[in-house]
Amino acid sequence: MSVEKMQFQAETKRLLDLVVNSIYTNKEIFLRELISNASDALDKLRIESLTNTELAQDEEPEIFVIPDIDTKTITISDNGIGMTRDEVISNIGTIAKSGTKDFLDKLRESTAAAAQELIGQFGVGFYSAFIVADKVELITRKADTDSAVKWTSDGAGEYELEDCDKDSHGTIIVLHLKPEFTTDNEYNFLDRYEIERLVKKYSDFVRYPIKMNFEVRDNADAEPTIEIRTVNSMKPLWTRSKSEITREEYDEFFKQQLHEWEPPQEIFHVKAEGTVEYTALLCIPKHAAQNLYYSDYEAGLQLYSRHVFIMDKCKDFLPDYLRFVKGLVDSPDLPLNISRELLQQSVEVKVIGRALEKNILKQLGKLLHDERDKYEEFWREFGKSLKIGVYNSMFDKKTQDGLKDLLLFQTSRDGKFSTLAEYVERMPESQKKIYCAAGKDAASIERLPQMELLRERGLEVIYMTDPVDEFTIDILRTYAEKEFQSITRENFELDDAESQKVKAEVDEIAKSHEDLLKDIKDAIGDNVKEVRLTSQLKSSAVCLVTGEGGPSLTMEKTFAAMNNPMFKATQILELNPNHAVFKKLENLHALGKDNSEFEDLCTTLYSLALLIEGVMPADPVELANKVTALLTR
Ligand code: ADP
Repeated sequence: MSVEKMQFQAETKRLLDLVVNSIYTNKEIFLRELISNASDALDKLRIESLTNTELAQDEEPEIFVIPDIDTKTITISDNGIGMTRDEVISNIGTIAKSGTKDFLDKLRESTAAAAQELIGQFGVGFYSAFIVADKVELITRKADTDSAVKWTSDGAGEYELEDCDKDSHGTIIVLHLKPEFTTDNEYNFLDRYEIERLVKKYSDFVRYPIKMNFEVRDNADAEPTIEIRTVNSMKPLWTRSKSEITREEYDEFFKQQLHEWEPPQEIFHVKAEGTVEYTALLCIPKHAAQNLYYSDYEAGLQLYSRHVFIMDKCKDFLPDYLRFVKGLVDSPDLPLNISRELLQQSVEVKVIGRALEKNILKQLGKLLHDERDKYEEFWREFGKSLKIGVYNSMFDKKTQDGLKDLLLFQTSRDGKFSTLAEYVERMPESQKKIYCAAGKDAASIERLPQMELLRERGLEVIYMTDPVDEFTIDILRTYAEKEFQSITRENFELDDAESQKVKAEVDEIAKSHEDLLKDIKDAIGDNVKEVRLTSQLKSSAVCLVTGEGGPSLTMEKTFAAMNNPMFKATQILELNPNHAVFKKLENLHALGKDNSEFEDLCTTLYSLALLIEGVMPADPVELANKVTALLTR
């Protein structure tokens, strides 16, 4: 086949521009990225060859890094799995991850420093080649096939593909260095001792030999001979004792092992020698992955047995809510050729998983206690995961108990994060329940009509601003034996003596206005279950509350957004009997039947109550007309 010219997918090209021109200030990292890819390709070949005898590994796995002064190139080659033509197109020509567009939009708006963090979450491995090269050639042959393909690009929007020859499987990447990287001014990537230093710095733990050629002379006059040396130590970090490992070494390890851009926030290095022996080296990244809550996010830990890599993304260790935890488990008690199916049933995996989960929650608890700022940073990134953990543990009291003390919420006190324990601690003696309110953000909750009285009484309200919050609290039901009480539910009332007194008065008024309330309900129709008076409003005329048990209005919105419009909240309209509007309703009502002004006022009040809750009335134009009419009457 002749040379075929192809275009990068549009997003890929944009990303490439960003990578090359603005983001990576650290030019060296291209080497780490390409060596990681080579190492992954060797892993894949070894794993495949366990089940596919055709693939039985014929040669020792190795990675070669060859700087060449004559051609001003660096070549990185591996004898790993290689790629087919189609794989080259889809792996190297496109970025097929969800959230790409969002990501690019965010990137464009962010500052250089923030951009670095963002790109790290995304990972652009191979493209980092274009930081140092103005032309990249990739020659690859997939194991178990005969044909090889050569991909060439200058990173400017197009690439070429052509068939070519290659003796054996694997991938060769040739970087034609930009002139500025071939002199001794700043970087000289043609200097093999410089490259050796970089390999040691970034890729020492790679578990395959990274080899380089060195010229050696027996004495100054002798002809040089070429000696091949393995540059990396290959000793897995996790086999060393914790006290010997520096934070920098851990950071470097996670970056290279997990293709992370930035050092992790928290590290867990656990060794156990009980019924099951294992070592785990886990981390919590600084930032949540773009697609953490999308179905294409691949959670899971790497699995090793006796330091030999077995599989990636093993989901059976940790519960789904800990999907953000990354790292590896190495256990001699797991066989080398274990399949994913067997793994699911493995008792050892369950034992290890439970211990790890406990360990992680314990360490998070410690962080919350000892380093509140750091915990809040963690919470901003991953709090949602823990809340989902509670939500998914309906019948699992143990998980709920493990998680409930780790939850943070903003409250009406000062907008700062608070644990449930801290909230309960501050509750006045007379307050029996934990008050909470849902809304799209703190500001919209603060404006709820129900908040006025609470504010006046100095009562604190937990803000539920994440759609998952209400579901989480519904599952918990109580904390420290105190019930949660949404202030926008029908059964909400304040417990103190004064409130109870006011309530008794309002109940009296309600008794003498039963007809009025019934006629208001009839005017509004079946959208509301009931119309009643409330003692919880101060200056507002109306509010909408929802029935106990069923979904709330915010839940209804969440369901609707997920295309589940069947879940409807039961609405109850509450009126403030001390408001002028109530007087007006009374007066109009007294005029007798078929009074359209009365009906318009009722339906308009209902529409306004919806608006307060952030719900668009069914017919906004009709509402506008009625309000205009009322204004000019
Ligand atoms: P990532 O490694 O984060 O997936 P990259 O851009 O580095 O992203 O690589 C994209 C894909 O190209 C890899 O997932 C892999 O499938 C393929 N690839 C890259 N380098 C190699 C290689 N040396 N051998 C085989 N496949 C490779």
